[in-house]
Amino acid sequence: MRGRSVFAQRGFGAGSFVIEFGGDRFSRDEYISRVDPGNNHFLQIGRNLFLGPTETADNFINHSCDPNCGLRVEAGRAYLFAIRPIAAGDEITFDYSTSMDEDFWEMRCQCGSAVCRGRIRDFRHLPAEVRDRYLSMGAVPEFVLSALADKPAVTGMIVETRAGAGFSPAAGGARAALRAP
Ligand SMILES: [Zn+2]
Repeated sequence: MRGRSVFAQRGFGAGSFVIEFGGDRFSRDEYISRVDPGNNHFLQIGRNLFLGPTETADNFINHSCDPNCGLRVEAGRAYLFAIRPIAAGDEITFDYSTSMDEDFWEMRCQCGSAVCRGRIRDFRHLPAEVRDRYLSMGAVPEFVLSALADKPAVTGMIVETRAGAGFSPAAGGARAALRAP
């Protein structure tokens, strides 16, 4: 989503707190029944727990495949911290995949970074080196880590088979993942 963006009003040092996510709490089933997949402002913070949309800045933080913030979930609260120095005027971003183990929503990525993966999907689909980098930063919530242990991580290439598709619910028929042998 590139409709609205969030920019730093001041600098943030690496490791510092940036913003907390608000929103009502929903189960996975409630999330699936309420979400507008083309304009998804829910945030997964637990295996069966999602924060709903808000009308504050936390609602409008965009995804990047080369983000400047990481997500932490502690004691049921979710917040972003800087994973590198952020200057005043920089756009605040995080990698949505670091909070995703939902087996449902996916989105074509248009973040424009040099390392763009082309698609926003559950964490376990990330290339191993990308997963390891986020793990080393402490930017992977516990529920995502435990899911990784339960479900084998997927490696291999993602091939876009529906050009222009904005999203494809994982439960639908048009999955586009090819696994390496
Ligand atoms: Zn991207």
